[in-house]
Amino acid sequence: MRKHKKRLGQNFLHDKNVINKIINSFELNKDDLFLEIGPGEGALTTPLIEKIKNITLIEKDKDLVPYLENQYNSNQVKVINQDILKCDLSNIIKSNMRIIGNLPYNISTEIIFKLLPYSKNIKDIHFMLQKEVVDRIVANPGTKIYGRLSIMTQVYFMVKKLFDISPNVFIPKPKVESGYIRLIPRNYAFKDILHEKKFKDLVTMVFTARRKMIKTSLRGIIHDDLLNKLSINPSARPETLTVQNYLDISKNV
Ligand code: SAM
Repeated sequence: MRKHKKRLGQNFLHDKNVINKIINSFELNKDDLFLEIGPGEGALTTPLIEKIKNITLIEKDKDLVPYLENQYNSNQVKVINQDILKCDLSNIIKSNMRIIGNLPYNISTEIIFKLLPYSKNIKDIHFMLQKEVVDRIVANPGTKIYGRLSIMTQVYFMVKKLFDISPNVFIPKPKVESGYIRLIPRNYAFKDILHEKKFKDLVTMVFTARRKMIKTSLRGIIHDDLLNKLSINPSARPETLTVQNYLDISKNV
């Protein structure tokens, strides 16, 4: 048996029931274009390729590549041996692409941040992540776990937690609980690219000083009167503002 590489977050799914539950959680059409991040030994790839014609796999571990290439027909399965965080996705993500992955947990939020700007080309995303990360993504304003990850994901995607997954279904067993999440792109929320950048910078700025009131973090950037006009309490803390509040502020700075 191959040794699992901890540094690559290699916890492979082995429970047929959970794999079926994942594959049956969305409708599949033969012509769907799929991208899988971190296929490992193909726990999700194998049942998927029985139902669709094409899938692209991005796998960092070069030792897994010969295995994946032997396992599948190269007309159907394209294996890219790259680090998802380093590769140029603009050549890989095609229009209406569906993305799936049981992600390496140590870099899962970085992967999500990397995918956000491609939302217009994505049909949907289904990811297995650390449960704590799933909960942060779907968190509502006013909760302790609502923050930059929730806001940045929710401005691009409608997010839905589908179910939790026990550590027992992976080999080796991870130390943490997992969760399974669906992201479906929203209509583009920004006026233009500059607005998109301002939104990103604003959210990063206020959440680096999470304990500070909005008016303090935004002193010299936006006046209290304008915040009041936008129905935002200047004394509010960042975690109480909605995604729409941040869109409104970023339009006015
Ligand atoms: N999909 C398989 C499964 O469910 O059994 C494997 C999932 S395992 C949690 C994560 C996979 O991502 C591993 O195969 C690992 O080698 C791969 N991986 C880790 N870091 C990566 C990176 N930066 N880019 C692409 N793949 C990566």
